[in-house]
Amino acid sequence: MASGGGLFVPEYFPEVTAEEMEAMRGFDYPERAALILGKFFDEYDRGELSEALRNAYASFEGDDPAPLVRMDNGTYLLELFHGPTCAFKDMALTVLPYLLRKGSDLLGLKEQLLLLAATSGDTGKAALESFRDKKGIKVVVFYPEEGVSKMQKLQMCTQEGENVDVVAVRGNFDECQSGVKRIFRSEKCAAALKERGYLLTSANSINVGRLLPQVCYYFSAYLDLVTADQIRFGEKVDFTVPTGNFGNILAGYYAKRMGLPIGKLLCASNKNNVLTDFFRTGTYDAKRPFYRTMSPSMDILISSNLERLLFELCGRDPALTAERMKSLSATGRFSVRPEELAKLGETFYAGSTSEDDTVECIYEFFEEYGYPMDTHTGVAMNVARRYLEKLEEDPESEKRPMVVISTASPYKFPQDVLYALTGNDVKDSFKGVKRIHLLTAMKVPEALKAVRYKPIRFKTTVSAEKMFDEVLAFLC
Ligand SMILES: *Cc1c(COP(=O)(O)O)cnc(C)c1O
Repeated sequence: MASGGGLFVPEYFPEVTAEEMEAMRGFDYPERAALILGKFFDEYDRGELSEALRNAYASFEGDDPAPLVRMDNGTYLLELFHGPTCAFKDMALTVLPYLLRKGSDLLGLKEQLLLLAATSGDTGKAALESFRDKKGIKVVVFYPEEGVSKMQKLQMCTQEGENVDVVAVRGNFDECQSGVKRIFRSEKCAAALKERGYLLTSANSINVGRLLPQVCYYFSAYLDLVTADQIRFGEKVDFTVPTGNFGNILAGYYAKRMGLPIGKLLCASNKNNVLTDFFRTGTYDAKRPFYRTMSPSMDILISSNLERLLFELCGRDPALTAERMKSLSATGRFSVRPEELAKLGETFYAGSTSEDDTVECIYEFFEEYGYPMDTHTGVAMNVARRYLEKLEEDPESEKRPMVVISTASPYKFPQDVLYALTGNDVKDSFKGVKRIHLLTAMKVPEALKAVRYKPIRFKTTVSAEKMFDEVLAFLC
């Protein structure tokens, strides 16, 4: 985090030219990502960056780390869950170790890095896996004790590696994330770490190294649509993004600012619909009940990356942005001006779904198209579908191709997905995995199969106040 408590943003949005778009058609995913990311990280050697990206995505199952699938109803799904931990967080976190190491070399830093992450389930595992046994870095992951799925918890608590620690926190994700941010802001914590030879960094999307690699898949999906003759160059495309901390969808907004022809970005929420209300009314009000849902990675009331959008929205006014963030932490709310709300509406549309509607959507999609979706993708698909139905009713409306971002493998949330597909409850995650496999014939990711036989290594639970003590204990 920047001094003063805000988040870093790019100085400007580098443009991707028509010639570059044309050239990227023939590139594979790592080459496309190298071109896009290279624009932000121009001190990094391009050849080395390319190689790092190629290595990162070599750990994904299949040839394409971000395949675009066409449904029979004409919508597209961008599958971002083929990485080592089966959620879209792998798209950036497999690249982050290189970005951090190289960045710290370029700056001539001597300290070791201490990476902290608050996780609603998926970031934690992806960070643990990509940094395990990496030299010069230690990783501590905090997750809300009751706020992650059983499979997510198992994945994290069986993590291997000598440089990692996993800690449960009493409370929900927002409390977990605030605890981590408190450590980042505290001069006392920084001093205690410095004394031990550590510099702090984050695996959450407050880290630009997490955020910027996510810009690449918007470009890649668009190029795939062109290459498959689904659209012409320059034609606009809409994206629906299942949203929690607003990192994924913000990357889409950044892509648009770089010149990608995006029409609307649909911000899809579950029952925790604080963002839906914000986009409709212009007031962000986090003082409301917190619900635990089947899409735990989206159970968030304080969406960190919205700060970066607010900064762009007010014409990059740091004082006004800080004022709004201060108001959020003091009162739980802030508002934007009517003209700002109107501007938001030009790019964003927001919707939320109930648990029942998500279940229904997953069921129907499997019935109609034979496609099993995870619970987060189910939320997004339902919001997208309702939006498209609304457009149908309005003859004036402009219809554009719709890409729904699929953020996790259905096997990562096996009990809820099985319930959605069949109405049956199973107590055991692996029984769920097995039944989904029998039903759908979809391949079970190797990484999830392996979790079943690994010993539990991490069992500590702390209160939010004691998070830093746990960090220090781990470093000793
Ligand atoms: C993290 C996550 C989300 C939410 O993404 P944000 O970038 O936090 O908005 C959605 N779905 C899944 C499966 C996730 O892991």
